[in-house]
Amino acid sequence: MKKIRDYLYRLPAYLLWALFAALLVLAVFQGATDTERAKKITLMINVPEVDEKGAMRYLKELMPDVGLEMIKVRSFSYALFLEASLKEADIWIVKESDIGQFLPDFGPVAGFREGHPAYHYWQGENPDIWGLRVYEAAEDRGILQAYVNYGASGEKEDYYMFFNPASLHIGTGENDEAAFRLTEKLMGSEMKSPFIKGMDASIVPALEAGGVKYFNFKGEEQDVFEILAEAGLNAIRVRVWNHPFDEAGRGFGGGNCNMDTALSIGRRAAAAGLSLLVDFHYSDFWADPGKQMAPRAWGKMDLPEKADALYQYTRDSLLLLKAAGIPVSMVQIGNETNGAMAGEKNWENMAQLMKAGSRAVREVLPGARIALHFTNPEKTGSYRYYGEQLARYEVDYDVFGTSYYPVWHGSMENLTAALNEVAGRWGKQTAILETAYPYTLRDSDFYGNLIQEGTKGIARPYPFTLDGQQSFLKDMLDFCQNKLQNCAGLFYWEGCWISAGGGNRKENQALWEQYGSGWASSYAGIYDPQDAGRYYGGCAVDNQALFDEKGHPLEALKLFGP
Ligand code: CA
Repeated sequence: MKKIRDYLYRLPAYLLWALFAALLVLAVFQGATDTERAKKITLMINVPEVDEKGAMRYLKELMPDVGLEMIKVRSFSYALFLEASLKEADIWIVKESDIGQFLPDFGPVAGFREGHPAYHYWQGENPDIWGLRVYEAAEDRGILQAYVNYGASGEKEDYYMFFNPASLHIGTGENDEAAFRLTEKLMGSEMKSPFIKGMDASIVPALEAGGVKYFNFKGEEQDVFEILAEAGLNAIRVRVWNHPFDEAGRGFGGGNCNMDTALSIGRRAAAAGLSLLVDFHYSDFWADPGKQMAPRAWGKMDLPEKADALYQYTRDSLLLLKAAGIPVSMVQIGNETNGAMAGEKNWENMAQLMKAGSRAVREVLPGARIALHFTNPEKTGSYRYYGEQLARYEVDYDVFGTSYYPVWHGSMENLTAALNEVAGRWGKQTAILETAYPYTLRDSDFYGNLIQEGTKGIARPYPFTLDGQQSFLKDMLDFCQNKLQNCAGLFYWEGCWISAGGGNRKENQALWEQYGSGWASSYAGIYDPQDAGRYYGGCAVDNQALFDEKGHPLEALKLFGP
């Protein structure tokens, strides 16, 4: 009896041991499932501006074998959720203003703790207990924290990014890019910036106003920005003219692209998960090597006044995009500014304008890259010369961008040499900001194309056929990613520019005048009498689009996919 009684007395202890053993087995099993979990990455974003779809798409492209899921969070009881979410998410992007209520006076410094996989470091006297718990929870999991301080503009706007070191953080939006750049700095060379696959789509709203519709590969009508995103593009470029209208409010054409257009395109692009490149021409109409006229409003200004106006205009415009929550990944200061810009025709003056633009970008969108844009890479030594001038006058920029139309601009090999020299010598990124290639010699809108039957003085490195266009784009994408040093990306130029109307010249002309869907309307003559005033009309590049005359995508568009 005593034995039985002893046994009964000890039973709770036995049970405890059994429970302990069971827990041990469970823990080992849990370890195994943790290993399995590395096959899946969870992204959590509670910052509306962050380009979620773009981030997901890019992660999928980079890691096709890894399952991805996203937890979107918009509002919640913050403090408890933060801890819980850290346990679930591998990549986590959060706005400082959200975390701030729990972590007042958080200092602006972040850095690695020596010899530790995680880092966290803060200044400030009264870190709130919830904030501390979050950081401790992160550190316990070996989660890295990146802290981005957007203090320069005077508006406090800070972001945190937490991520599992086993994961990659990739996105294409401006805030994403900011977090990424800081992280890149902290992580050294382990991070790779997303390659931008973009398209200039500035003309789209004007075409749609005239009745143009776009279709996906299944033949269904769809928002064209969604079609582009689904094809694999991750960015849209939009040109911005200060005031492309006459005194009666009639548009100059070419899409009548001003900041309203940029906002409208930017919103639609963002909704489709695409970031924006804003291409400021600093003119009231087309700016290229042949014409760099100042906006009429700046016409009588001296250089310091003009630089200040350019700074204010850039700043105000970017603030509008920022307020609209549009992710801007790159800002272009001037368009094809080979030797002139906004009416200034020497490098000393141009540099002052460029610096004024750069300053506005850094202040308003510190996460965006600043691009400068040139053309005619076939002119020997010209890019070296521009690079020297930019260095001499200490212009602040990130990307040395170029137009590259192979019919006029020499071989890809020559382009490589010209751009790689700049990239190597001055430590800059390069980018193809404009490129295109014809798929036909047919004209679809009764306004002659730049490249048509009998066009003289052009190279034909590929046939002007559907296959030729595909071969060109395939080679070009390969070239950018494998031959060019530090190439940020490629933008196809106006691949959606097809024809509104289509019946006859007269019908089309009415649409060009009314909606600005041609390259120039007759109203542009008051600003550009020599060119637009004489040759105004429709589209000169409809045979270089990536959509056919009826708005159906061409096979070449698929090349932007993974
Ligand atoms: Ca045409």
